[in-house]
Amino acid sequence: MRNITEIYIDGAFVKPHGEEIGDLFNPSTEEKIGTVRLGDREDARTAIAAAKRAFPAFSRTSKAERIAMLKRLSVAVFARAEEMTAAMAEEYGAPQYFTGFAVPHAASTFLNMAETLENYDFTRKIGRADVTMQPLGVAAAITPWNSNYGFICSKLATALAAGSTVVIKPSEMSAIQTQLITECLHEAGLPKGVFNIVNGRGDVVGAEFSAHPDIAKVSFTGSTAVGKQILRAGAETLKRVTLELGGKGPNILLEDADLDTAIPAVLMAGLANSGQACIAGTRILAPESRLPDILERLKAGIEAVKTGDPGDPEVRVGPMVSQKQYDRVQSYIRLGLEEGAQILTGGTGRPEGIERGWFVRPTVFVNVDNSMRIAREEIFGPVLFVIAYKDEENAIRIANDTSYGLQAYIHSSDLDHARRVAERMESGRVVINGAPHEPLAPFGGFKQSGVGREFGVSGLEAFLEPRAILC
Ligand code: NAD
Repeated sequence: MRNITEIYIDGAFVKPHGEEIGDLFNPSTEEKIGTVRLGDREDARTAIAAAKRAFPAFSRTSKAERIAMLKRLSVAVFARAEEMTAAMAEEYGAPQYFTGFAVPHAASTFLNMAETLENYDFTRKIGRADVTMQPLGVAAAITPWNSNYGFICSKLATALAAGSTVVIKPSEMSAIQTQLITECLHEAGLPKGVFNIVNGRGDVVGAEFSAHPDIAKVSFTGSTAVGKQILRAGAETLKRVTLELGGKGPNILLEDADLDTAIPAVLMAGLANSGQACIAGTRILAPESRLPDILERLKAGIEAVKTGDPGDPEVRVGPMVSQKQYDRVQSYIRLGLEEGAQILTGGTGRPEGIERGWFVRPTVFVNVDNSMRIAREEIFGPVLFVIAYKDEENAIRIANDTSYGLQAYIHSSDLDHARRVAERMESGRVVINGAPHEPLAPFGGFKQSGVGREFGVSGLEAFLEPRAILC
């Protein structure tokens, strides 16, 4: 049992004023593995005050000083990668292929931001004006449970690079991982108050961060519903807001796709992070002319995917993070059946041979119409759909017929062809033939997948405001 009893304010681990205790679980076994003492609004305000005190001096640090701090943070996180991996497997249920990406990714976000900063010019001359890019002030980061380390680190890296101090509220379900990453960040020896991390409920600490007048900027990753609340709460004091929200990514097999390579890539994109990924390509668009072959291959492919204990290196799909998330995914599988879709493989309940844990059966629906709720709403689990299209125009129309627009996937044996289709996607990112992540390219959504962009220069400038001096 791990009991997380402290939060991190003004450079020190301190006992929260809040007294509420939350339970922590291992989703693979459903066992309670610890507790977290949650901060309250007073803790949120104490953290904001610490960040506000630290801001004047920190905002005047040089680029070189901030680059050095980012590098120290990266070293400190890399140093405990093994423990971080174990905690992410235990508390979140992440399979090894995902922790193998997520933990180094978290540490490298600091190096990516250091590189961006190295090449970024905060001053420019525009006609008679001397323009300086200024840090906005104290920033708040609010993050979800599905990649706790990565979101904390990337938002922290960006705020610091811009010269902002920051208060962070991670998901209350990730407290063991948060404790570990906070210890790493503390080791980097940054000035007191530059970053503060408060465990707490979204409607308490998160709500205080979203509305407090001393917060200039909120960077949020989470659900579209909460994103809208944060935007409303911030409107009163005109906060700058970056929202990274949900998705319902189209995963398009073009007529000329090489199915030997494309089907594994389609499944990889669809089942990313056990389906608990905003970027998951869950809407598989398949040409009618090749449908029988595609369905046969998808069925065989998904049935070969191993679901289970994240301790097993062969496992690709781990458990859902919580009972609530398990119930939600199950209810969507039932809804799909009620709506008249048919199951190609998978279904309700746990996978065969698994008696406990919040595991769901990787499921593929066929005979799906894009107007069905299962095709329109984010499920956040390993549940995929095949929507047949007649021709390419039809495919593009269906792909864009969604309120989301985060990440789309295109599979084709002709790169120029894929690019032409990519250019017509209403989506923040378009991945062709399973291309790898590009850490300095903008990341974020069109439409209700979000507001603004993260990573690289776009991410940095979202924490800056230009000031023009004319003389
Ligand atoms: P969530 O929106 O419920 O919670 C996210 C964070 O917001 C948590 O820390 C939570 O405590 C906090 N929160 C909840 N209510 C709040 C409120 N009223 N005010 C302020 N903060 C509040 O999301 P979740 O269930 O933790 O994560 C899953 C969702 O996140 C999915 O919808 C997924 O698509 C989205 N997501 C998006 C991205 C992206 O980059 N676009 C990445 C990962 C997850």
